[in-house]
Amino acid sequence: MAIFGNLADKLQAITRKFGGKTRLTEQDIDGMMREIRLALLDADVSIQVVKDFIAEVKTKAHGQDVAESLSPGQQVVKIVRDNLVQVLGGSDNKLHYSSSTLTVIMLYGLQGSGKTSTAAKLALYLKKHGKNPLLCSVDTHRPAAALQLEVLAKSIAVPCFIQPEEKSAQAVARAALAKAAYLMSDVLIVDTAGRQVVDTELMAELQDIDKIVKPTERLLVVDAMLGQEAVKVWQAFDEAVGVSGFIMTKLDGDARGGAALSIHKLSGKDIKFITVGEKVDALQEFHPERLAERILG
Ligand code: GDP
Repeated sequence: MAIFGNLADKLQAITRKFGGKTRLTEQDIDGMMREIRLALLDADVSIQVVKDFIAEVKTKAHGQDVAESLSPGQQVVKIVRDNLVQVLGGSDNKLHYSSSTLTVIMLYGLQGSGKTSTAAKLALYLKKHGKNPLLCSVDTHRPAAALQLEVLAKSIAVPCFIQPEEKSAQAVARAALAKAAYLMSDVLIVDTAGRQVVDTELMAELQDIDKIVKPTERLLVVDAMLGQEAVKVWQAFDEAVGVSGFIMTKLDGDARGGAALSIHKLSGKDIKFITVGEKVDALQEFHPERLAERILG
C-alpha cells in the first residue's frame, strides 16, 4: 500500500535495528522511541496520538518483564506492534445491521471524498455477502451525482432509487424507504449531498433526512489525502448527525496516511472499510491487525 510505504520502511528499519538486541539499555529504548516518534510525525500522524503512543510504549518497554526476557528487542517490537493495532482501531470495525427488516446506511462526506463511488462499492460488497441492497441518492443539489450513482449501480446490477427532478431531499428519502419496502431490500445505502466545505445549511438538511430514515450506521467517508483535516471534518459531521464509523478512501494514493493512523484515537470511532482504487471491487473490510502487519512487516 503506497500510502504507508515511507512509514513502513522507516519503522521496519527501526525494528530491525533494535529487534535483534539481546540487551536493551534505557538509552536504547529512548533512542528507539525517538526514531519511532519522528517516523510517525513524518507520516502526518496527529501530535497528540504520537505523544500518547510513545508514552504508552515507553512505559511498557521499561517494564520488568522486558528487561528480564530472553529477547528484550523482540519484546519491545511486540509492544510497538500491539500499540499500533490499538491506535488503528478498537473492536467496532464491523458493520452493524438493524434487528428490523431494513438496515439503513447513510454515507456522509465532503464533495470529492469518494462518497458516491463508495456507495456503489459498499452495495457490491453487501451483495457478495448475500444481502439485497438498494442504493439511493438524496443529493438534490447536484443531479449529476445521482445520475453517477445510477450508472455505477447498473454496472453492478444493484437497484438504485433516484429522483433527479425532485427538489426536496426529505421527499426523496421518504420515497426511497417506500421503494426499499416494495423491493424487499434488506439494506438501504443512502448517498448524501456533499459540499467542498462543511456547510450549516447542508447539515440541517442531513439532520432532517436522518429523522426520516433513522440510520443504523452513519458512516463518514474520509479521503486519506485530507490528512489531519479529517478530524475537523469528523467533528463537524459528528456534531450534526453523530458519526458511527468511517470509510477511509484512496488508500492506494500517495498521501502520508496520518488520517488513518489518527482518526480512531481522536474520535473514539472505528474505521469500518477502506477503499484502495477506483474500481467497484476496491473496497476492503478494515482489520487493524492486518494493517499494522503491513506497516511493521
Ligand atoms: P463524491 O463527490 O464524494 O461522491 O466522490 P466520488 O465518488 O465522485 O469520487 C471522487 C473521485 O475519487 C472519483 O474520481 C473516484 O473515482 C475517486 N475515488 C474514490 N475512491 C477512490 C479510491 O479509493 N482510490 C482512488 N484512486 N480513487 C478513488
